[in-house]
Parts: sequence; structure tokens; C-alpha cells
Amino acid sequence: MSSTIEEIGSIIGAQRSGNTPAAIDWILTDSRSLCFPEETLFFALKTKRNDGHKYIPDLYTRGVRNFVVSDLPENLADYPDANFLQVAQPLKALQRLAAKHREQFQVPVIGITGSNGKTVVKEWLYQLLGPDRVVTRSPRSYNSQIGVPLSVWMMNEQTELGIFEAGISEMGEMEALKPIIQPTIGILTNIGGAHQENFASTQDKCMEKLQLFKDCDVIIYNGDNEQISSCVSKSLFTAREIAWSMKDTERPLFIEHIQKDETGTTIKYRYLGFFKEYRIPFIDDASIENSLHCLAVALYLMVPPETIAERMLHLEPVAMRLEVKEGKNGCVLINDSYNSDFASLDIALDFMARRTEDKGRKRTLILSDILESGQTGSLLYRQVADLVHSRGVDKIIGVGPEISAASSRFELEKHFFRTTTELIDSGILNGLRNEVVLIKGARAFHFDAITDLLELKVHETILEINLNALVDNLNYYRNRLKPETKMVCMVKASAYGAGSFEIAKTLEDQRVDYLAVAVADEGADLRKAGINSSIIIMNPEVTAFRTMFDYKLEPEVYSFHLLDELIKAAEHEGVSNFPIHIKIDTGMHRLGFLSEEIPHLIDRLHRQSAVIPRSVFSHLVGSDAERFDSFTRKQIETFEQASTALQEGFKHKILRHICNTAGIERYPGAQFDMVRLGIGLYGIDPFTNKVLHNISTLKTTILQIHDVPADETVGYSRKGTLQRDSRIAAIPIGYADGLNRHLGNGHGYCLVNGQKAPYVGNICMDVCMIDVTGIDCKEGDKVIIFGDALPVTTLAEWLDTIPYEILTSVSNRVKRVYYQD
Ligand SMILES: *Cc1c(COP(=O)(O)O)cnc(C)c1O
Repeated sequence: MSSTIEEIGSIIGAQRSGNTPAAIDWILTDSRSLCFPEETLFFALKTKRNDGHKYIPDLYTRGVRNFVVSDLPENLADYPDANFLQVAQPLKALQRLAAKHREQFQVPVIGITGSNGKTVVKEWLYQLLGPDRVVTRSPRSYNSQIGVPLSVWMMNEQTELGIFEAGISEMGEMEALKPIIQPTIGILTNIGGAHQENFASTQDKCMEKLQLFKDCDVIIYNGDNEQISSCVSKSLFTAREIAWSMKDTERPLFIEHIQKDETGTTIKYRYLGFFKEYRIPFIDDASIENSLHCLAVALYLMVPPETIAERMLHLEPVAMRLEVKEGKNGCVLINDSYNSDFASLDIALDFMARRTEDKGRKRTLILSDILESGQTGSLLYRQVADLVHSRGVDKIIGVGPEISAASSRFELEKHFFRTTTELIDSGILNGLRNEVVLIKGARAFHFDAITDLLELKVHETILEINLNALVDNLNYYRNRLKPETKMVCMVKASAYGAGSFEIAKTLEDQRVDYLAVAVADEGADLRKAGINSSIIIMNPEVTAFRTMFDYKLEPEVYSFHLLDELIKAAEHEGVSNFPIHIKIDTGMHRLGFLSEEIPHLIDRLHRQSAVIPRSVFSHLVGSDAERFDSFTRKQIETFEQASTALQEGFKHKILRHICNTAGIERYPGAQFDMVRLGIGLYGIDPFTNKVLHNISTLKTTILQIHDVPADETVGYSRKGTLQRDSRIAAIPIGYADGLNRHLGNGHGYCLVNGQKAPYVGNICMDVCMIDVTGIDCKEGDKVIIFGDALPVTTLAEWLDTIPYEILTSVSNRVKRVYYQD
């Protein structure tokens, strides 16, 4: 859809110098993205940090002849056949041109604004609506004052629906974007704190964003958000509103029920009197909200609820940026294997061409049929071939019948296959060497199989968890119990660092009686992830009682104050007979009721019915050490008396428990009704300090190896002076991953190919160095920080601490990987 330079000149009200005839197809604001010089119009924009005018000479050399400028070049004679359109503000001119372009189209256009979720909502709408109509949408998150006009410029005769994002960071910006997008359907995703600095209040920001929707036919938003609702009514728009709500049945789209389970969320809704439902393969709240916005749009566009449900089920996660990964055989992979439309191909090729770090590498494109376009085959693939040639691609591997049929258009090294399987079976992928490989395919082609094949595996720091070993440990302790003794498994502190959900799930499958966590949020997370076992909260916060009632999380109660607050809250919520666990202090002197308080406690409990004691327990101070045996026996005796006294006050059975891991092992007579297993589950015997079945291995990979001569130092502060010529390896783990800084300077070692490699110098935040002199190893080799051959207990000894601390210190950013052997 080209325009002549004359037309454009008159639309933007420019002063023209030069009179070469030209037809313009492409607009360029970033000189690095140049692709089709003859048909390109370059806008020389001035930003805070840069000035587009600087790039005019270079672009002219590369064949560009058309420029929009605010300042004419001094030596116009150097550009004999160029056209310069001079305006006061090139950015305004760009916006004006896009607005004029938009006016040509009478199709529905969706405008999306809000603080978060814009790109996801846009991409999901595309996934939901794209199969039935030709959609033009913002590429990636082109939502700025420059990105929006560039996006809208992509609309053409084929476009049947536009979907554009608008992001703003200052007052007044929406006014500029509105005429460019001219949305007929408006979505306000939400209002948060992002970009707050340039607005007096979130109210101001909300009102500003709503400017976009002034002339919309319909506005879609979260009706439960009071701020947004009040801003919408203040705006006095005449548009129809589809506010969705989970609370207010009067709203046009009422969300009746949301049910999360392990693999997804089922959402029931009522619209125009009909009750329907759909399911998405996500369980986080943001995804649920995003899907509700999309639902409202789809319903408004009269997509049948059955079609919506079918497509919702297959929503794909949205990759927010191109993913660059290390490939096998020295390759670099650029993964864009979720879609393949023309615009995103252009962006991805541009991204590949710009990567200076890959200079000298061959550029290979693996491309599927382009399924998501209104264009017909021959024209489309001619354009694709032009793009591929001009972006400097060296080799194309095409997959699919359509691209294969167009193979003659590609003039470069080329290979074509009808299916992804044929490509994989051909073996050609194994021959890729030192290339940058852009993998770009429509979802239907399942290019993730290609990425999987080409990707270099395990080059990161991970904590591997062996779930079989966990079950072995559980059974080891179970075998020490009387058959009728119940068990609480401690999964507090993310299951001693192993990651609470998978551990809890495994334990639930083993039918343990109770799980215990420290705080209510940990328990709520387990419930949200689908754990149904009984859960005890060891440190119930007064502010989290609601959460506990909602998710049936049973609190420990250790004081009258806490008990009173809990009863008050339960009565207020109309809760009755809520199970609680009474803690008695028998010598730890941390938390708990004293023996002499039991009569008063019984009395207090009798005078209410909101809560009911399910169990009574105490905690041993030194069950893992012989030297405390007489104290431990005294604790057990005190507990025996206090718990009996409590039981005598009630008719129902109250479970009694005092043993932790070491107690189970060493005091078989003190099992009472239940025991609480902690560290033993994770493989450590606290009495012998031996490892039963190791469940966790912290491992990483060698990034780089240097030969460093004697007397040099390694790392910060010149701490590690080398005594001999050494080979020093850097590994991607530091104190921010939980590698204790005191291990540095030779205070500990890790294992490289089974051999001891001491830490050299100070451990850094994200990386540390190890001495691999004399060890047969190379870059990419595995490094074990702790695991079977180097137990956590050894690290604990070096650091003068307990294994509990080592395990719980592995930070969240270290990926947990679970396996069963
Ligand atoms: C953590 C904890 C346990 C488990 O202790 P281990 O020594 O890990 O077995 C038992 N009871 C209570 C109250 C705890 O907080």
C-alpha cells in the first residue's frame, strides 16, 4: 500500500526540497533497521539521547533517498537525487501520517492500555481471534509515541481487525496516540504504580489512559477495581461498557466461579443471561485477569462461547522478547518458535542482523510456512525472499508445503522440507557449526522440537532434587514407628530449600497425615497449587487469619493473646470448630503455654465454639545429642503431664506429639500419637550427621578456564595469591545463589569430574573461581557444589554451622529440577 512522496508531503504539511519521484512502502526511524532503501522514508527524530539527522549521510550511501527532517543538511548538493520533507517536528509528522493512514480503514480496532499485561492481552486476543480474520497488530510491545505510529502504518487492504497497545509515561501523551489508533474497542487492563513519576496520582494516570477510549463503541475493564470504575464513570463516555466482575452480579459479565487445579484454571461466567465456562492452561492471577479481558472482547465480537472455550484451552505463553540461547557446536540460537507472521519475521531478522557479538558467523534461518497472513502464496513468499536477501541471511531451511513450493524464489544456500519431522530426520541440523540460527515457525509446526535438539543443555546452576530418595527417607523413618503413629512432614522454608510444592505433592501421594509450614502464605501457595492434605501453620500471623480460614490452614496456638485474637476473628467470620494445635513450652522457652496455664486454657476453650484443639505438642531442644538426654527425658515427662491434663478437659481425642527427626530415632517410647519429621526427610540424620539418601545436588558448569602464573591474585581485593602456576576456572555461582562467602580463599572445595577443586580468592556475588590445576577438565564440564560425593554435612562443618542452614540458603533464583530415578 504505497503512497507517493507528494501525498505524504501534503499530509504532514512539509516544505519539500528535491523532486525525485518516489513511492513509499516503509517507514524507518532507526537506521539499523534499514531493509528496502528505495521505498523507505526515513524520519530523523530527535530524542533525549540521540538525533536521527546524524544518520542521513550513511543512509544516503546505502540507497535511501527520502527523508523527513527538521533541519536541512548544510550541503544539500551532496544529495542530488534525494527528497527532503522539512517540518518543525518530525515525530509529530510521523504521528500525523499514521493517523491519516488509520482513517482509511473502517475495520474494528482494539486499543489496549494499562500498567501491565498489555502485550499478553494483545497476543492472546490474536490467538483467539486470528484464526477467523486477518489481524494487524503491534509487533512485540511497540507501544510508545514512535512504536504506535509504526504499528498502525502496517495496516493494509487485507486488515480485518487491528490490535494495538498504547503505553504512556507522561500526561498528554494519550492525546497524541488516540487519533493514531482510533480504537473502536478499548481495554484498560489495570492501573498500577509503573511510570508513576510523571503523574500527580494514579487517578490522574487512570484518567489520562482513558482518553484513548473517548470515541470507542465499547470499553472493557475490571469492574471490581474501584478506582478504574470511578474514573470510567467520571469520564462520562457514551460508549457501552463491559465491566467484568467477580462480585457484582449486576455487571454485564459476571464471573461466577474460578477453580484452580494443578494444570489450569476453569472459569465459569454469565453473559447475556447465559452460563458458560472455559479453561486456561495457567493458574496465576495475572493470567486469569488477562483471559477475562480477552473473553469480554471475544464475546463482544460475537465469537461463539464454544469456540472461545476451545481456543482458551490452547492459549500459549507469550515470550516477551526473543530468546537467545547457546546451541551445540558453537551455534547461537535465536528462538522465536511461537509465531511466524511477516512483521515479526522482519523484527527477528533485524534482531539477528544487529547482533554484533555474532559477527563472522554464518546466519541461518529456519522458517516454517507463514500461516498467519491474509496474503496469497506467491506474493507473500516473494516478499519473504526479498526480506531474507536484504537482511543478510546466508542459509535458509524452509519447512512446510507452501514455503517449499516457493523455493525457487530464494537465492542463497537453501534446504526445504515438508514437515518438521522430515527436517529432523534428515540429519542436516547436526551439521550446523558456529552459526547464528534464527528459529521461527508457526505454532502448528512445533519448532520447539528443533530448539530442543539444537540447544546446549545444562549450562546453568541448578539444584537437582531426587524425589525417590525423598520417599526412601520417609519410609526409613516410617519403619521406626508403631503402625498407628501418625506423621507430620515439615515442608517449612520451601521444604528446607528443596521447593515446597513438588515435595508436598510427593508426600501427599505417600499419604502422610499432615504437612507443616511456617507462615500462612506458604500454606496458601500450596493450596493454590492443588495440595489437599491437612496443613499446620507454625507461625500464624494475626493479619493472616482470613487466609487460614479461606484455605483451611490449621494454626499453631501458643499464647492467650493469639488465642483470643483467633477466636475473635473466627467468630467474626462465622467460622466454628476450626482445628488448632496447642503448643506447650517444656524447656525450649521460645513459644508455648506453660503447664500451670493448662486449666485456664481449658476454661477459655470451653467458653467458645469457634476453634477446637486438634492436637497438643511440644518441641525437643537437644534430642540429637546424648549430653542432653536427661533434659530431653524431663521435657517428655513435662509434656506427658501437661498434655494429659489438657486431654482430660475434653471428650474428643486430642493428638499428642513431641518428636522431631532425632526424637523419632532416639526416643521410640515418646512417639505418643504423632511425630514431626523434618531434616531426616531431606536425607540428613541429625544424630550421626550422616546422609541417609541424598536428595539434593547443587551443580553448575565451568564457564571459562585461565592459566594464571604463580604470584598473581584471583578475584576481588587481591585475596587469592597463587603459590604456583595454576589453572583457574570460573563457575556461575556466587554468594547471591547461597554459596557461603566464607568458603572462599581455600576454606572449602567443590568437585570437578570427581576431584577436589578449592575455591580461590573471594567468592563474588554471581561467580566464583576454583583451582583446577591438574584436574582433567574443560569449559562446559559439570561442577558439584554439594551432592552424593560431597555431602551438605561436610560444608556445614567447614562453615561451623548446621546442614539446615546450608540447605535453606540456596537462593530462589537457582532453578530446582526434580527427577525420579
Ligand atoms: C522444624 C520443626 C521440626 C522438625 O525438626 P527436624 O529437626 O528438622 O526434624 C519439628 N517440630 C517443629 C515445631 C519444628 O519447627
